[in-house]
Amino acid sequence: MKNIIVIVNQKGGVGKTTTVLNLATALVQQNRKKVLVVDIDPQGNATTGAGIEKNGLKYSVYDVLINNLAVTDAIVKSPSCKFDILPSNRNLAGAEIELVDFKKREFKLKKALAEVSANYDVILIDCPPSLSLLTLNALSAANYILVPIQCEYYALEGLTDLLNTVRLMQSKLNPELEFLGILRTMYDKRNNLAIQVSAQLVEHFNEQVFYVSIPRAVRLAEAPSHGSTAVAIDPESAGAQSYLRLARELLKRLKEAE
Ligand code: ATP
Ligand code: MG
Repeated sequence: MKNIIVIVNQKGGVGKTTTVLNLATALVQQNRKKVLVVDIDPQGNATTGAGIEKNGLKYSVYDVLINNLAVTDAIVKSPSCKFDILPSNRNLAGAEIELVDFKKREFKLKKALAEVSANYDVILIDCPPSLSLLTLNALSAANYILVPIQCEYYALEGLTDLLNTVRLMQSKLNPELEFLGILRTMYDKRNNLAIQVSAQLVEHFNEQVFYVSIPRAVRLAEAPSHGSTAVAIDPESAGAQSYLRLARELLKRLKEAE
């Protein structure tokens, strides 16, 4: 089953984690899907945003990657958003270096997720803002790639680098990796630059750009401080509504790609 989606952009602060958490909540709440979130960022923002105390974890993705812990022993349930999560914290920063000595180091996450992927309808992986060994593990494990983009001046430049990496990944590590789409985040329809960049994106990538875009919305930014998501706390808010629509568009795309 092809159900693993990596949310990736080496640029920081473009809305990767916000997208993973709200999309996951939307898929559970609206579409009754079984969802696993994989936090592979040492910042552990997805873990905290799912209402889990990252410094109090018994086990984390680190133990799975480095100590060969069974992935089911590390997975916990988000109390606020009802999806499962393979959590992370700063221990994972060391994994980058420790992994270097492993054989098949780019495939550690893939191997781990193979144990549980059949238990879920969708698995979403949240990446750190770098093209590191952790990100390579995520790209090796995934079937599909989703790229959140903030429509600003440097966005397209970063996208070219990322697409080159993806092409390299496809030829070396994961020939089955498919592009699911580009998501415009924090999109301000009244900002001229945003409109221009968005138009360029659509011109270059056509229907690979998700029809739904995510507006800049206070609720989306506030929710993590409550250990939850806008979709869970305030599903009627503009930000939550856009992620609920995105969940529908994503399921449609997955179906078409099957
Ligand atoms: P990093 O690269 O550090 O992991 P990221 O790509 O995961 O960052 P987020 O953490 O999701 O990005 O978002 C960066 C900041 O912008 C956060 O404070 C988040 O709450 C806020 N944010 C994200 N999306 C929106 C939005 N649509 N409207 C308003 N604020 C947003
Ligand atoms: Mg993040």
